[in-house]
Amino acid sequence: MSPICVERAARLLSDLVAIRTVNPMGRPYTSREPVERQAVEYIAELFRPYDVAVERLAASPIHESLLITVAGRQRGPHTLLESHLDTVPADDWPETAFSPRLCDGRLYGRGSCDDKGSLVAMILAVLEIFEAGDRPPLPVALLAAGDEEYAQTGIRQFVALDYPLARAVIGEPTRLQPILQHKGVIRWEITVHGRSAHSSQPERGRDAIAGAVSVIQRLAEHQRRLGERFVSRLVTAPTITVTMIHGGRTCNAVADQCTLSVDFRVIPGMSPTESRDELISWLATPGLEVSHSEAQVIASPLATSPDDPFALAALEICRRVTGRDDLQFGGAPYGTDAAWLAGRTSAIVLGPGGIEHAHAVDEHIELADVVSAAQIYHQILMSGS
Ligand SMILES: [Zn+2]
Repeated sequence: MSPICVERAARLLSDLVAIRTVNPMGRPYTSREPVERQAVEYIAELFRPYDVAVERLAASPIHESLLITVAGRQRGPHTLLESHLDTVPADDWPETAFSPRLCDGRLYGRGSCDDKGSLVAMILAVLEIFEAGDRPPLPVALLAAGDEEYAQTGIRQFVALDYPLARAVIGEPTRLQPILQHKGVIRWEITVHGRSAHSSQPERGRDAIAGAVSVIQRLAEHQRRLGERFVSRLVTAPTITVTMIHGGRTCNAVADQCTLSVDFRVIPGMSPTESRDELISWLATPGLEVSHSEAQVIASPLATSPDDPFALAALEICRRVTGRDDLQFGGAPYGTDAAWLAGRTSAIVLGPGGIEHAHAVDEHIELADVVSAAQIYHQILMSGS
């Protein structure tokens, strides 16, 4: 029996959802073992009977990834399949988030869609190779990455290993549509400096909160201009969002300081560092004293070309397996681990499930989609030379 079937997908996915791999997202973490450890051991056990190299990659004391490599018929660069092991917390869904439920062909639970559905499909695709007694044309690297949801230390550690890569598929919920392009992101803090004074005589101070309002207006103006300069067929316009604001010290004093957290989404064609530098220059105006923190996050956009031969081959496979002849390449506003592979290899984002179910109460996935994804991944692994 082929390992790619609904029953086996359901079993593996239920087991992996029941293993909690909640990313603390920067909050205190008290367990002595890494977030992903039990899932890593579970997956390593699945591959024990086979001729694979299994490596545990420790990105930090609290996060680790699993790398499984399979020899190809020829030596050379690898096909990378990557999905992430960690999930976002389930604080808003405490009752049944980690008790997987199967209902009407769907599996419910935290991580079922983001991202363990993709991971299970990738595992099944590789198992299928062994159980059919095959060898893939190119070597395969299957990376079950840790810490995607917060600092992406898993994929970054893998990239630092400088594995030779021929092509890469990042598994995320795309409804089996190959995503070629997505946004990059830069996050940092802008602090507006003022001078405090008694609020009965505000003219004696310089109001940092009023200054922050000017900054927010200038950010909106900059966003509008960027939208005119940078246009993509697959991705929506660049955005600059103030996500948090902290200012003032007491209710009866002019604020001497106000800090804005900025989330700047850049699109293909924009360099994250140059875009940030340009924005910093744009904010440098007389009468406004502003300082900038170091960037806390800098992730590139994914900008794979629609003419990329690997992407075209993957699209053809997706059309064949899903029966959707009109399936086209897509783009996404969110970022993925593919950002870290941009410019290194042909990379696409492709997986079962819909992004609207990710990070949501009642997160779920259609098991039939997981099976289709496994068939697509398997055909990708067995394609090319
Ligand atoms: Zn994800």
